[in-house]
Amino acid sequence: MNQGFPPTAEPISKLIQELNKLPGIGPKSAQRLAYYLLRAPEEQARFLADAILSVKQEITLCSTCFNVTDSDPCLICRNEERDRSKICIVEQPQDILALEHTRIYKGLYHVLHGAISPTEGVGADDIRIKELLERLKNSQTDEAILATNTNLEGEQTALYLNRLISPLGIRVTRLARGLPFGTELEYADDVTLTRAIEGRQEF
Ligand SMILES: [Zn+2]
Repeated sequence: MNQGFPPTAEPISKLIQELNKLPGIGPKSAQRLAYYLLRAPEEQARFLADAILSVKQEITLCSTCFNVTDSDPCLICRNEERDRSKICIVEQPQDILALEHTRIYKGLYHVLHGAISPTEGVGADDIRIKELLERLKNSQTDEAILATNTNLEGEQTALYLNRLISPLGIRVTRLARGLPFGTELEYADDVTLTRAIEGRQEF
């Protein structure tokens, strides 16, 4: 049903409803975008539709680091110039974008695809921790950098990972506390992130 939306032609209200499901897009923004697309050249609408579909059809997860990629292994895992002794552990693929943007970190990554959250029923087995441990055991990693978010879930996940990784004889570090509590990595600015990487501390 068109709950909360004024009556309008079915195709338009359908588009508004779909846009409204996107994160950060409220009913007003959804309406504005829908009417913008309605007026936009057909080509632009087609490019957008194609871009959305190809993301779904062509993007998979790297079988090594679980980053999103259209080739496996991904560009970062394949890059011979990356420092293979370091693995930076993040919650989401977009966290890699934020860290790469600083150009300060040259090691590899591992994407957990979430964080441990008992309140939301996400346990250690629901994210890519098992794969991370396998990978660490079979690699020459000498530093694991815990770059989970600085909120409750991120901190819980970091604690849990430290307990598992330390016994492997791998140095475990955590991004510096320069990141305010509650920060999602993806939204941190370059200067703060650079400081957090450079000032990372033993866990
Ligand atoms: Zn990869």
